[in-house]
Amino acid sequence: MQLFENMGEYGYEQLVMCSDPASGLKAIIAIHDTTLGPACGGTRIWPYATEKEAIQDALRLGRAMTYKSATAGLSLGGGKGVIIADPNTQKTEALLRAYGRFVDTLGGRYLTTTDVGSTGRDLEFISQETEYVVGLPIPLGGSGDTSIMTGLGVYMGMKACARQTWGSDSLRGKRVAMQGFGKVAYHTAQHLLEEDAELFVTDVYDGALNKARDMGVEVVSTDDIYNIPCDIFSPCALGGVLNGDTIPRLSCQIVAGGANNQLLTDADGEDLHRRGILYAPDYLINAGGIINVSAEVGMAYSPDVAREKTERIYEIMEQVIHTSRREEIPTFMAADRLAEDRLASVRGVRHMRRAR
Ligand code: NAD
Repeated sequence: MQLFENMGEYGYEQLVMCSDPASGLKAIIAIHDTTLGPACGGTRIWPYATEKEAIQDALRLGRAMTYKSATAGLSLGGGKGVIIADPNTQKTEALLRAYGRFVDTLGGRYLTTTDVGSTGRDLEFISQETEYVVGLPIPLGGSGDTSIMTGLGVYMGMKACARQTWGSDSLRGKRVAMQGFGKVAYHTAQHLLEEDAELFVTDVYDGALNKARDMGVEVVSTDDIYNIPCDIFSPCALGGVLNGDTIPRLSCQIVAGGANNQLLTDADGEDLHRRGILYAPDYLINAGGIINVSAEVGMAYSPDVAREKTERIYEIMEQVIHTSRREEIPTFMAADRLAEDRLASVRGVRHMRRAR
């Protein structure tokens, strides 16, 4: 792996390898960019097959956090931690505390929180060793469950897309097909149902489907979700679901959901654009979670501040649509450009400050 070449090409600042044989800890922290503030991103605990895979995941996820926070207007940079371990069998207090000590050595350049495989309980152990933890459970003074704000942000993003597509942001009577009915989809669905949207839901987990049925939502099979005639397709489970096989099956005018990395490749984003399907960039409209934890950085957590900032996703989505139309580029590129322009302008201010 050409590490320095890769880091240079994509602007990574720092890659930290953490080893503690006594506890079995093998972890990697990737700090992508701290121009806007401390790098912030969750810690993923996953039994990666190879070290290379773990490093690549940390790098990729850390960079995505830079773009997410930059687009959301937050004073946070991007970073990510990964621990190579099976979250069901290999997580121990000693391992998590050893990881916390490594996070602490970075002196606040990296703030961690939960991600796939890590829980609020794990954060509690990490926070025994470092203060650089955000998103702890509410009883422990943190901002708690991120999916509430993520769900709200996805809903605001949908409304902005609706206004640009149908001339009104009302979702009343709109048919929304949701792939996955976990935490984020549930909270988005609450807002949609309040507005009398018509929902169709699929999931691979019976508990999630029963929850949907209890809310009066129609359940369809995991394959039918792509074919169902609808106004909005909302991926809320997995990445890579917008691809050459699925896009031709969609009949919607808008794609807007909470899942990360929905486009399998950039070419799929271009395909949606060509077909006139308005794609709400995933990292833009699912930023409610990072917005929520940012509302506890440097101040006491305020749900009102988090909510107000999450609602701004509406205006940011509109801005991205306008750029996309003006420049005739896909929305995912317009969102990237918004993030890159903000980073470049703040970097300029920093250089000016240093030169004085
Ligand atoms: P979750 O685990 O609560 O929900 C995911 C749901 O998807 C589960 O019910 C699962 O059974 C279902 N699912 C899995 N495979 C499926 C398939 N093939 N078809 C249909 N359903 C399937 O997770 P979540 O917190 O709701 O997160 C959902 C997505 O949003 C993930 O991609 C996550 O990375 C992303 N996201 C979450 C947050 C957050 O605050 N929780 C923030 C940003 C992004």
